[in-house]
Amino acid sequence: MSRRIKITLFAIALIGLIAIWVMYTGSGRRTQFIVGGAMVNLGYRLQDRLESYDFVHEHEISPEDVWKEMQQQNALAAAVRETFPRTPRHPLVAMVVCMDARIDTNELTGDTRHYYYIIRTAGSVLSLMEEEMLELAVENGVELVLLSTHSDCAAEKAAASPDMRKRFPALAQAVDERTRRINEFMARPAIASKIDAGKLAVKLINIDTMTEKILPR
Ligand SMILES: [Zn+2]
Repeated sequence: MSRRIKITLFAIALIGLIAIWVMYTGSGRRTQFIVGGAMVNLGYRLQDRLESYDFVHEHEISPEDVWKEMQQQNALAAAVRETFPRTPRHPLVAMVVCMDARIDTNELTGDTRHYYYIIRTAGSVLSLMEEEMLELAVENGVELVLLSTHSDCAAEKAAASPDMRKRFPALAQAVDERTRRINEFMARPAIASKIDAGKLAVKLINIDTMTEKILPR
């Protein structure tokens, strides 16, 4: 057998072994997950610098221009998604997160695979409606509910300012009632029975807004 054929056979065997490792072993799947996350992050970093591309211009743009640009971007994204469909998942986690745009829930979870139901409200406040949304999510298979707060929260600042409280009384009251609502949610029969049976966990977390690191509350 010539030296060239030997090298070719060796290369084919090596590629085969790597393919088996990537597809069928735990460490191979973890490597795929991390490489996928790195590529998502590369995309975030590439777009992050493009301040003059859309929405923010040297001249003022009208709300209709913003709408037009958003539709164009959606058309492009939807065409990609249509070409490369994604797998529907059954979420295992439901999270209540503040609407603050600095928090990106995909980055927060380090995951893009739709294992999460996300409810976003200013100040992560709950009303009866959100409690019902969470209970519906639990009925649909959720095993972990995360109730969050975050650093430098505008809704909390509004609730702490007498002037702002006058302008946003309902929001301020909802921030005041956050703990009471959490207790009310935990005491709902369908939720309390699942917690008692060890089938559901509810955790309170605090998010560092700048790093998105989850800290216990
Ligand atoms: Zn906030």
